[in-house]
Amino acid sequence: MLDAQNVKKDFPIFSNHDDLFYFDSASTTQKPQAVIDSVSSFYSSSNANIHRALYKIGETATDAYESVRLKIKSFLNVPDTHEIVFTKGTTESINLVSNAWGRKHLKQKHSIIISEMEHHANIVPWQMIAKEKQAKIKYIPLNENGELTLDALNELIDENTKIISIVHQSNVFGTINPVEKIIKIAQESNILTLIDGAQSVPHFKVDIKEMDCDFFVFSGHKILGPTGVGVLVARKELLKSMDPFLGGGVMIDEVTMNESTWNQIPLKFEAGTANIAQVIGLGEAIDYVQNIGIEKIYQHEKELLTYCLQKFSEIDELKIYGNPRHRGGIITFNIDNIHPHDLAKFLDTDNICIRAGHHCAQPIMHKIGKSSTARVSFYLYNDFREIDYLCESIKKTISIFK
Ligand code: PMP
Repeated sequence: MLDAQNVKKDFPIFSNHDDLFYFDSASTTQKPQAVIDSVSSFYSSSNANIHRALYKIGETATDAYESVRLKIKSFLNVPDTHEIVFTKGTTESINLVSNAWGRKHLKQKHSIIISEMEHHANIVPWQMIAKEKQAKIKYIPLNENGELTLDALNELIDENTKIISIVHQSNVFGTINPVEKIIKIAQESNILTLIDGAQSVPHFKVDIKEMDCDFFVFSGHKILGPTGVGVLVARKELLKSMDPFLGGGVMIDEVTMNESTWNQIPLKFEAGTANIAQVIGLGEAIDYVQNIGIEKIYQHEKELLTYCLQKFSEIDELKIYGNPRHRGGIITFNIDNIHPHDLAKFLDTDNICIRAGHHCAQPIMHKIGKSSTARVSFYLYNDFREIDYLCESIKKTISIFK
């Protein structure tokens, strides 16, 4: 196990609050001092726009920004830095693909396969482009444990299927999906794949070359980095063949009064002034995670999950949703006769932060017949003591409502 009390010392939010029990890292993670410092130090010592300034601080800023592409290449084993596009987050990355790839390649009667466990970010952009192109969306169904039923996938695929877009780890059940198997099945029928890594990259080792997907997306703020930065990794040939998503500065080669030509990839997809400080902060966050070790983080969360599942099973009024065999540190649950929003508010009086709501995954809520649930999620700064405290606070809330 990691020494979470020691880890916490790197995160100023925990010293700025006497006792903060933060169980909402699936929503966004807390930030280490090193990440905060890197953002602040960029603004105080090398703030300048990138890819255009001909003076020293501009070159420093450009180098700092571009060096993060190299860090991501090595962290996720991406074949080539040209395949790494900086975006605002997972949501924007998926919108980029649905617009830039989808608008060009989807036609009437084509189908897009997603699953019933997707975050809205991996549903709505596809619905929008499907409506425009009169294409169809098909859903891989879930079983009662909150796992994908892969047998159904083969039945959904036909000659009109163009892309399968699937979440790597569910933000509701914590299910870790067998994306390698799905990618293989897709490749046998020449279907592209997009993997939503918002909940996987921060929590376990991801190797994009080995995975061999066509598109992979994640957000910086869920891996200790700043908000406002995310990544799209895509095969070089695909990026080259796609039209731009946003038009403006940087993404062009030449602009005349009548038409424009495009910059090389990846800048063709990075229109306008980038989120320079946020990208630099993401680089620092990746360094932080790598210094601790992603495998250690994964093991730590696994132990927290096992402990919390055991502790939760001792509370009669608590019902857990989903029981996937392969899962990360996320538990979704409800308490008999207590609305999850009331539970969250009562826990907050003990300085405990949990998520309550539909988790931007309303199709799952429909599936389990609830409009909202409570959710706890773990990261490297949580420990057993905090889970004990959480369970005591849940029991206290139950006794108040009795
Ligand atoms: N996909 C998954 C699985 C997520 O958990 C989230 C964030 N909760 C997103 C996509 C969207 O991420 P962002 O809001 O950072 O764009």
